[in-house]
Amino acid sequence: MLAPVDPPTNKKGISIVSEDVCQQTVGRPEAFTAVENVFAAMARGDAYNFPVVREAIGHADALYGFKSGFDRAGMSLGVKSGGYWPGNAAKGLTNHQSTIILFDPDTGQIKSIVGGNYLTAVRTAASSAVSIAHLARKDAKVLGMIGAGHQSTFQLRAAVEQRDFEKVLAWNPHPKNLVRLATVCAELGLPFEAVEREQLCAEADVIITITSAFEPLLRHEWIKPGTHIACMGTDTKGKQEVDPALLVAATLFTDEIAQSISIGEAQHAVASGALKAGDITSLGDVINGDHCGRSSAEEITLFDGTGVGLQDLAVASVAVQLADERKLSSKISL
Ligand code: NAD
Repeated sequence: MLAPVDPPTNKKGISIVSEDVCQQTVGRPEAFTAVENVFAAMARGDAYNFPVVREAIGHADALYGFKSGFDRAGMSLGVKSGGYWPGNAAKGLTNHQSTIILFDPDTGQIKSIVGGNYLTAVRTAASSAVSIAHLARKDAKVLGMIGAGHQSTFQLRAAVEQRDFEKVLAWNPHPKNLVRLATVCAELGLPFEAVEREQLCAEADVIITITSAFEPLLRHEWIKPGTHIACMGTDTKGKQEVDPALLVAATLFTDEIAQSISIGEAQHAVASGALKAGDITSLGDVINGDHCGRSSAEEITLFDGTGVGLQDLAVASVAVQLADERKLSSKISL
């Protein structure tokens, strides 16, 4: 006799949302709102990230892991799974690979499977953009970009929408890669200059770092008063983009304090004893009006954007909702 069969996992079917459809549905404004809302929910205690798993799998030099969490306010429950496959570029693929799976918080049934590569880039750019919106001086005119990899153009496009920037300065260890940023600036009609790091710091009102560096690229004494810095590249133990003295001198904000001190830019200053977790404020507290954010035109503010799973779930939820509404998702049942 055959065993009784479970009913299908989800009566409405599981929504499959492709990378293409993510690009059609989640633009910068949608990502900004989703990320701002989830940072606010995290600071209120309505949303929390589960411990991150990340392992070298001992095959193809790959790092694989997952980030997950639950947002009670946005009703997003799920996991982003993926990692870094350094040999992919030679195969014509992106080295960073990710897929997001959402579950129904009421039943635990799978709701959707969403391409995570584009969403990772757009949600990371939204994170620094939210920090600029809430922390940079209103009269900021010069944007400085440190790094010119895959993420950098997403960062640039989202940042320039936050203030009336008149010029973009940029530095990268391999200057030829700066053409990426120069091309976006030409498209946006913004003057662009490739400069050395010290000059960039002397002129920029807002600086974004988005590199894979393992040593400080910016010195504390180079940064002028009133600058806002969004450190976005450090998301793993050992990585580092700026001088720890800069974190001690700045007013510090982050997406999640636990990640900031363990895998974020603050890990080094905390390890040396120069900084404590209590010195760092959640950006969500500023969004919720529980912290004033920048308190003077001279203050240096620094946002340690470590990248949390809830950001991925937030943008994936928007992609699924809009894709279903516009009949752009495909459906399957398990
Ligand atoms: P990428 O590989 O395309 O580009 C890396 C950039 O870092 C390039 O500009 C490269 O020249 C530069 N770089 C590499 N090694 C360096 C070094 N030792 N010193 C200085 N610069 C160096 O990567 P990407 O996709 O643009 O991502 C950039 C960084 O952002 C990565 O470290 C990635 O892990 C991180 N990231 C963070 C988040 C987040 O949420 N915070 C999300 C995605 C990616």
